[in-house]
Amino acid sequence: MHIEASGMSLPFDNTYSRLPEHFFARQKPAPVPSPKLLKFNERLGEELSIPPDWSKSDELLDTLSGNHITNGSEPIAQAYAGHQFGHLVPQLGDGRAILLGEIIARNGKRYDIQLKGSGQTPFSRDGDGKSALGPVIREFILSEAMHALGVPSTRALAAIETGEVVWRQEGRVPGGVFTRVASSHIRVGTFQYFHARNDVEALRELVDYTIDRHYPDAADDENPYLGLLDHVVTAQARLIAQWMSIGFIHGVMNTDNTAVSGETIDFGPCAFMEGFYPKCVFSSIDRNGRYAWGNQGNIGFWNLARFAETLLPLIDEKEETAATKAESVLAKFPDRFGSEYSGHFKAKLALPDHAPDDIIKSSLELLAREETDFTLFFRRLTQFADGGPRSPLESLFKDSTVFKQWHSDWEKQADLPSGIQAMATANPIRIPRNHRVEQAIQAAYRQDYAPFHRLVDALENPYDESEEFSDIESLPQPHEVVEKTFCGT
Ligand code: AMP
Ligand code: MG
Repeated sequence: MHIEASGMSLPFDNTYSRLPEHFFARQKPAPVPSPKLLKFNERLGEELSIPPDWSKSDELLDTLSGNHITNGSEPIAQAYAGHQFGHLVPQLGDGRAILLGEIIARNGKRYDIQLKGSGQTPFSRDGDGKSALGPVIREFILSEAMHALGVPSTRALAAIETGEVVWRQEGRVPGGVFTRVASSHIRVGTFQYFHARNDVEALRELVDYTIDRHYPDAADDENPYLGLLDHVVTAQARLIAQWMSIGFIHGVMNTDNTAVSGETIDFGPCAFMEGFYPKCVFSSIDRNGRYAWGNQGNIGFWNLARFAETLLPLIDEKEETAATKAESVLAKFPDRFGSEYSGHFKAKLALPDHAPDDIIKSSLELLAREETDFTLFFRRLTQFADGGPRSPLESLFKDSTVFKQWHSDWEKQADLPSGIQAMATANPIRIPRNHRVEQAIQAAYRQDYAPFHRLVDALENPYDESEEFSDIESLPQPHEVVEKTFCGT
């Protein structure tokens, strides 16, 4: 049963729920027995221009737990399809997520406010529509960390414990609801949903909507459909190169988890790499390494080709002409991705723009040789380049001769000291290390939320030195190492 409406409201300005009815299902969140607010992101609330009297009232917890439909909200579950590990599933959709509505933030941009884990929808199939508390905590930590690291990402507005028990692989666990903020939830899979149904009219509406919401410039292009593709190609090239530059592995780069806005979305079994090797995978469901660290560029390209396919009927009446035109835009991906990737690594290594890429390759080969910690290496290199001691850097390598050889090659090419500023902003000190995330989750399962709060605080300024959070920088002890990550949904 839902709590009766009060006079309060959030400043919703909904557009997706005005699209044709087959774009979504109208669905109210399921009420929960005894919700408890674990965390509300006040700063994000302010950015979203959520009225303080609303966020300080009972409405906050009631609304974000799903127990109350606040005025102005038009809850819907969005329809989408997707290629999961290379196989097309023509119907996925929000099976455990409900979009409450959209808000115009202080920056003038439009954002979705979505609940994750708030009960079944027509897209739930056999799922319970709920979320365990673990994945809620994980997504809160990871998505806010990505944002602080400067990577486009969906955001975390709130984490709630529902007072309900859910059944997962590990047994009975406390349930949670996560409030996600995204510049939209339009996925490559959203286009695939209509493409799979040969619904060209819906595709046209979705394209118009997407251009209007994300890439208004494309409307002026000679062929707006190609214009949209071009923008999405750029956004994905930028995003994936940035992920790789900080050692991030998304883990499930299915087309339903690829947002056309270019934001990182769906933090399932994602992880930050520690010991470097290009084939690094953490996700328990990625058995063949499809989504390994070093394969993310290829997969991004593959996903974009699936996106382009959905646009073909709109690009040109003649299938062959449409395909040729789309291919010419898609073909820009490798160069765009390559130059973004090289730009990030040049900053990380203080290399001038004109430097050849060889030293980037040899740096990564050096790390791969001994599976050196990716984050510590770049950070200690930054400290050393800035006049700090050599030994913390050198001690990362068992074979110091190889390191010394690499170092003298690097020094000849690095643009020092002027490149230090770039290094300092490209090489984070603190990342959400897997063992810390796991510890925060396990503590929360024991109703100790302090490690979760502390980790979120520590990751707010990931490039700044901090005595207080020095333990967050360090590697796991052997017994703390996390080998595998799980979706946990
Ligand atoms: P994900 O692995 O989070 O990208 O989800 C893939 C699909 O499974 C999406 O359609 C989700 O909505 C659906 N799904 C995941 N977990 C659940 C759940 N607990 N109940 C219902 N549907 C779910
Ligand atoms: Mg997903």
